[in-house]
Amino acid sequence: MQTDFQTVDQARQSILAQLVAISGTRTVAIRDALDQVLAFDVLSPINVPAQDNSAMDGYAFNSTCLQSGAITALKLVGTAYAGKVFTGQCGAGECVRIMTGAVMPAHCDTVLVQENATVNGVTISFPPGAVKAGDNRRQAGEDLTAGKTALPAGKVLRPADLGLLASLGVAEIAVRRKLRVAFFSTGDELRSLGQTLDEGCVYDSNRYTLFGMLTRLRFIELLDMGVVQDSPEALEQAMLQAIEQADVILTSGGVSVGEADYTKDVMEKLGSVNFWKIAMRPGRPMAFGQVHNKANGNSAFLFGLPGNPVAVMVTFYAFVRDALFKLTNAKALPVPMVSAKLAQSVRKRPGRTEYQRARLVMENGVLTAHLTGAQGSGILRSMSESDGLLVLEHAQGDLEAGDTVQALPFEGLI
Ligand code: AMP
Ligand code: MG
Repeated sequence: MQTDFQTVDQARQSILAQLVAISGTRTVAIRDALDQVLAFDVLSPINVPAQDNSAMDGYAFNSTCLQSGAITALKLVGTAYAGKVFTGQCGAGECVRIMTGAVMPAHCDTVLVQENATVNGVTISFPPGAVKAGDNRRQAGEDLTAGKTALPAGKVLRPADLGLLASLGVAEIAVRRKLRVAFFSTGDELRSLGQTLDEGCVYDSNRYTLFGMLTRLRFIELLDMGVVQDSPEALEQAMLQAIEQADVILTSGGVSVGEADYTKDVMEKLGSVNFWKIAMRPGRPMAFGQVHNKANGNSAFLFGLPGNPVAVMVTFYAFVRDALFKLTNAKALPVPMVSAKLAQSVRKRPGRTEYQRARLVMENGVLTAHLTGAQGSGILRSMSESDGLLVLEHAQGDLEAGDTVQALPFEGLI
């Protein structure tokens, strides 16, 4: 047990280095594989497309018929439809009307788009330069080649990946089993929804923001364990129950100075957990490690997040999210940082990473960041009104209006 001072990067590296991914897979219909983690490489069993075919509606012919510097005239001998192959002969000086996706007729290697054709009865003509040899032909296997890796293990499957699996004829796929995450709030002052708010008490909001953030990661199975009172016995009992049921335990509250003492005692008893003071704002106190049930050898990774509602969210995005990907054996998706221009000056103390909440608005074609009022770590409204977090790096000092900053937007396209 130790209390460490860490930069955000050190804490992140240290966490990632200690994680051991879960094992276990399950086979699901590809619709149910959305946002799940692919368990194995998928090799393409077929060429996609299976045959050369046309990329456009037009006329297919052999490129040796092209006249250089003169009009090319071809005789129309038939039609090729998508799904209906042209089985006749298309010889020298001849062409076949062809639809997008139709298999290229034998001996044809080029498609003239129909807009460039002059049609006169069965004579199709076009000027020099209207088409080059090989134009508008999709090659067999150009999308996916038989035997090659179509999707790598660890990929979090997105809409395009479901379509890609379907294009291979794959109906079911092996994905990682869900990562089980138990979470609870600690604090005698916390009341659950439906309870009376006694004097000096607050509603437990962290469990709801945690629920929301975890639910967005659809490879996770949630276990909401409610509020746990500030006592060593209650905390130990909740931990032991969570170890039995989950791979990861997220707690909020109880890790700040003064409170950490009894939390530390319980953690010391149950495992190896470090209490960090991280050079960041918000989110300074945090605990991370592993806890065990010595009676049966079961264990779980533990993130002891701070209690303040904004700090919970910031530490989740700074540390927990990537860790959950790694624990599920997923290739970490790059966090989508964007550059934005500050609409106002911002005070920033060097020597810690600061996460300030901002609205991100397009103004005259430039993404512009406006702070969302008071930035206290208990003010959840600043989070609710924002479109993302400004990430002000460790060494950064005060900033002026017009300066460029990095921002972490909340919304992603896919
Ligand atoms: P702690 O880290 O336990 O000292 O809590 C820091 C602050 O966050 C205190 O003002 C707590 O009342 C508040 N807090 C802790 N947990 C929660 C929670 N689950 N929901 C809302 N506020 C909380
Ligand atoms: Mg507390």
